[in-house]
Amino acid sequence: MDMCKSILVTGGAGFLGSHLCERLLSQGDEVICADNFYTGRKDNIAHLIGHPKFELIRHDVNFPLYVEVDQIYNLACPASPVHYQFDPVMTTKTNVHGAINLLGLAKRTKARILQASTSEVYGDPDRHPQPEAYWGMVNPIGPRSCYDEGKRCAETLFFDYHRQYGVDIRVARIFNTYGPRMHPDDGRVVSNFIIQALQDKEITIYGNGLQSRSFCYVDDLIEGLVRLMNCEDITGPVNLGNSGEYSMLELAEKILELTGSTSQLRFYPLPEDDPRQRCPDISQAAQYLGWSPTCELSVGLRHTIEYFKGLLQEMRGASNQRRASMATERYLRKLA
Ligand code: NAD
Ligand code: UDP
Ligand code: UDP
Repeated sequence: MDMCKSILVTGGAGFLGSHLCERLLSQGDEVICADNFYTGRKDNIAHLIGHPKFELIRHDVNFPLYVEVDQIYNLACPASPVHYQFDPVMTTKTNVHGAINLLGLAKRTKARILQASTSEVYGDPDRHPQPEAYWGMVNPIGPRSCYDEGKRCAETLFFDYHRQYGVDIRVARIFNTYGPRMHPDDGRVVSNFIIQALQDKEITIYGNGLQSRSFCYVDDLIEGLVRLMNCEDITGPVNLGNSGEYSMLELAEKILELTGSTSQLRFYPLPEDDPRQRCPDISQAAQYLGWSPTCELSVGLRHTIEYFKGLLQEMRGASNQRRASMATERYLRKLA
């Protein structure tokens, strides 16, 4: 067995980050979780505090960080359109300055560093499904650009630190992932639809609902990330996602069925530059990592529905629940 490693997870109090911290601790590693709680929550990692191998630091990756580690997972960045468009300048800064600081840290400590990149680097793709060799169709000046171009620039920095300084990099392009610990006010489609269905509120469909996405369950995604980090044969970029593709209408139907909800559909205008379709080509992950997702959509949705049921019960009072969807409601008012 490998010796216990010391691992930095930035964005570790977020949805994916908290599952990753848990996974790394369970395999015996030491974890430093760095997060500024922009969209992450202490609740996500409360159960890890006190674990002898877990350390939490409040830190913004826009500033330098000096710690000694063997591996770095860089997940720090708001991930849903509602949150990354709230302060777009900060989103670009976090992607770019964050990458520079962590690559500097990796260079000094000779740590291996993995970047949580995204399918958004493909933009509104004219190739389907998207292989890693596809360069994408990205608007450089639209409302999504702070995220898309920020992540693209971070990939550029990763590859230049690799070529110029020999930094040991891994780049994962993550496609839409869902599961327990998504923020209730995240604004992403799976959390929105589930919360709306559980409260018998209108399901908010943007556009005609025929745009497609593919949804990966969080456990599958974390397995893929850990395999990529520990694979000797590939730097990436590697697509990680589920290749099952659904329209937003199909997703709504599935969630209504699983929750037994009486919610009606309500249509809103499609946000600017919303990609029409997205589906990963995951043959590289299969070939190099021996990885492919195993959790079916309806199974993953059931786990996620259970999580949100519990969360809504904890919030109980209607005013608490309303407060927990403020950012999403602001976004809906802007759309309508
Ligand atoms: P999330 O919003 O739950 O997690 C992001 C975390 O980063 C939060 O805890 C937040 O507080 C933290 N953060 C933000 N800015 C920071 C800063 N300047 N300094 C330190 N911490 C900061 O989102 P997530 O879904 O867990 O996403 C994690 C990563 O994976 C992100 O980089 C995201 O772009 C990427 N990703 C996620 C998906 C997905 O579908 N979930 C898809 C593609 C890529
Ligand atoms: N950095 C950091 N931790 C370290 C080493 C570097 O946060 O352990 C930051 C530092 O702020 C620097 C950035 O990473 O600005 C990039 O480092 P690099 O060595 O590439 O640049 P330089 O220090 O030469 O500007
Ligand atoms: N979407 C929707 N209703 C919602 C939230 C999102 O119809 O309440 C749509 C959105 O327009 C997009 C898809 O669902 O086409 C996925 O959106 P999400 O924000 O989850 O992720 P991304 O657009 O980044 O893939």
